[in-house]
Amino acid sequence: MRKTKILCTLGPATDSPEVLKTLIAKGADIIRLNMSHASHDWVRTVYARVREAASHAGREIAVLMDLTGPSIRTGDVEQPWQLEVGDWVEFRCKPEVEPTVPLSVTVNYPELGKDLKVGDIIMVDGGMIQIKATEISDKRVIGTVMTKGEMKSRRHINLPGVPVRLPPLTQKDYADLDLGVELEVDFFALSFAREPAHIQHLQLLLEQKGSKARVIAKIENQQALENIDTLVEASAGIMIARGDLGSECPIEDLPLIQRHIVERCSFHGRKVIVATQMLESMIENPVPTRAEVTDIFNAVIEQVDCVMLSGETSVGRYPDKCVEVLDTVIRRIEQKYPSGRFASDAPLKTNKHKMVKAAILLANSIPGSKIIVFTLRGVMAHLLAHQRPEFAPIFALTPKLHVSRTLVTARGVQPYVMEFAEGNPDKSIREAIQLLQGHGLIKTGDPLVILSDALYDGSNLDAILLREA
Ligand code: PEP
Repeated sequence: MRKTKILCTLGPATDSPEVLKTLIAKGADIIRLNMSHASHDWVRTVYARVREAASHAGREIAVLMDLTGPSIRTGDVEQPWQLEVGDWVEFRCKPEVEPTVPLSVTVNYPELGKDLKVGDIIMVDGGMIQIKATEISDKRVIGTVMTKGEMKSRRHINLPGVPVRLPPLTQKDYADLDLGVELEVDFFALSFAREPAHIQHLQLLLEQKGSKARVIAKIENQQALENIDTLVEASAGIMIARGDLGSECPIEDLPLIQRHIVERCSFHGRKVIVATQMLESMIENPVPTRAEVTDIFNAVIEQVDCVMLSGETSVGRYPDKCVEVLDTVIRRIEQKYPSGRFASDAPLKTNKHKMVKAAILLANSIPGSKIIVFTLRGVMAHLLAHQRPEFAPIFALTPKLHVSRTLVTARGVQPYVMEFAEGNPDKSIREAIQLLQGHGLIKTGDPLVILSDALYDGSNLDAILLREA
């Protein structure tokens, strides 16, 4: 069993029922719908296809809706600009502001002139073009081009190190959110989350709308990094959005930032997803670069929960090959280095944490053991995953479909939906063993560490049992 989960972004390269089935058969665990590039009609259609393909494969697949968030973009330019070093470019903060230099474009952020100061760098198009702010007023910002390049319409802007006053969600996000709630997606990712209040706002909104979905904070800039501990604590998990982080932070810091975020997630017991450019070269080529394979190695050694594919599966030429490469490389690394120490200093805050730790120590000390957890809300299973058993896989049984789907994202957890036999824990255990044997996951004689807070109705009895299959 592969412990690190694979998250695939859907797009035109992968939205047909056949390709989706292949992606899932090759190992996709979580599907990401990137609302920056998705119409509501498309989302409705592909969502139904994902559920169909998952049931065809006979396993749970989680769906994550990635909300665009409040990104700063330029307006339209009539023809692409060929910018040279030293050119002046003007960004107008409101559409009604008159241009004062020939290369002048609007931006969708009225506060740009208030947030920037002279000398700040404006990164256009993921940092392809860098412009230094030289003249600033509330209405406009004029800057000098530092790196030559072509600038087209509606380009993404990053402002490294500049605290921005953008709201947590835009009108588009609210409309997308309603669609995600209606479809019952399992996770929402919030782009440009900068403060815990942004996550709490979204989580509360979801609860008010009756959604059980959990919120993933996308860490994309320095403001978020300054608040990393509170952001991690406020969310169900973190996506290390290396694309924007690479523009917003010095590029040489990126591996250190990744390592730091993974450590903080591991400390607080939250999911962590490493995203962007895992197999970028495979958008065009059928084989990965050596450096990409080593990047996967690094994420697996850090014991992250998930690795993510973006353009590789949304628009790339070899989407199913990308999943195959991730699957093969991850399995190889996990086989060689099954254990790690990333969660060893996580605090054991409650008795439940301590009980989970005891079960893991037991499993670690019995070669070939497997962990079975009976869980109603998923709490016990998530705790087990966060404390990273050294070798044992975790099989989570829950009667609730949505719990089972959220558990798909947890490292080392294979969830199954199963009704518990009321008042008869032995029967539930027997049925679970049969179910897992049926899937070829355990065999007669396997040592089983069984963990439950759900089997003994009404008595709230937490139990660890040691059995043989
Ligand atoms: C990123 O910037 O790395 C990222 C995942 O964000 P998006 O793909 O949504 O721009």
